[in-house]
Amino acid sequence: MVRLAVIPGDGISSEVVPEAVKTLEAASEIFEFPLEHESFDFGVERYLRTGQAVPDDFDEFIQGLPARFDAALFGAGGTDPRVPAGISAQPVLHGLRSGLDLYANVRPSRLLSDDLTPLKGKTSDDIDFIVIRENTEGYESGTAGSFKVGTPDEVEIRPEYNTYRGVNRVLEFAFDYAQRLGLTKLSMAEKGLPNGLWSRTFNDVAAKYPEIEARHVHVDTLAYMIVTAPETLSVVVAENRAGDILSDLGGAIQGSRGLAYSGCFNPDREFAYFEPVHGTAPDIVGRGISNPIAAIMAARMMLEYRGHQEAADAIELAVRATIANGTITRDLGGRSSTIEAGDSVRQELRTQAG
Ligand code: ATP
Repeated sequence: MVRLAVIPGDGISSEVVPEAVKTLEAASEIFEFPLEHESFDFGVERYLRTGQAVPDDFDEFIQGLPARFDAALFGAGGTDPRVPAGISAQPVLHGLRSGLDLYANVRPSRLLSDDLTPLKGKTSDDIDFIVIRENTEGYESGTAGSFKVGTPDEVEIRPEYNTYRGVNRVLEFAFDYAQRLGLTKLSMAEKGLPNGLWSRTFNDVAAKYPEIEARHVHVDTLAYMIVTAPETLSVVVAENRAGDILSDLGGAIQGSRGLAYSGCFNPDREFAYFEPVHGTAPDIVGRGISNPIAAIMAARMMLEYRGHQEAADAIELAVRATIANGTITRDLGGRSSTIEAGDSVRQELRTQAG
């Protein structure tokens, strides 16, 4: 059983998220599990219609999600020239992450086809790691500000907060994740104080998992490793800002921004949310050429989370088959539309099911 809140958001989200939902519907028919989904239109389009990007009771809505749904599928929030700056579906992201305290952002970096990576000589065997990004602290605290803007005395303050509780729980999450999946290598990336909170807490948590080889790596070195030696990586856990950059790099070596996806978790909650990693792609919005695979893979990750492993595996196989049959969008070197690529995934899914 899956009860899903679908919140497409802005830009190309209204093109790619429906492809993910149609793929879930096909999987629910083929694998015979009940799927209920409800869509919420927060963001720019809603603002244009009603004057509000999100409703007045938005905080209550977010807090009420776990009682009504098992998971949410979100697209992206971003600027749109048709509306004043700051109007977008971005509050959804903040609400899901901070409001629901979904502190561990898990971003897989796996090759869906050997041909896609820009890294010379690397294959699917080499590119198969996960970046777990701390999702609620660091520079996400909302306390940045500036004054004397536009004058030579302008001051901008961007503090980063790291609390013992926040650092400890995401490190525990990462080690636990590695242990559950039988992964024996874990790297922690940051650039904090020498012997600071992250490195001390890392040593303490690592000591509880002697079977896992734990390395503390500076974020710049880890970025270098992603490009030169991704095969040495398995689970990477990182502070908020470092994790943001590293996971995008991990996405880039998969071949396109249209392929990377993530899930956000808090093991104390029976609710998680999933999203493609890309943004609103204003340069291609409305043209029907955006790649739906990241959104479809985010939906696949949601099925895995809900225990529908067989359906999740089948969707991944269907995505791989679609890339192999060439029904792919321009970012992957193809000529297909968003809908054609999504239709191909569903067709491949049905073909597999016989
Ligand atoms: P935002 O301000 O919403 O973050 P952005 O332009 O900074 O938008 P993305 O939306 O991720 O960031 O876009 C970065 C580049 O990747 C753009 O050239 C965009 O067209 C491309 N891109 C992003 N997502 C896709 C996709 N699903 N399919 C094809 N190209 C994509």
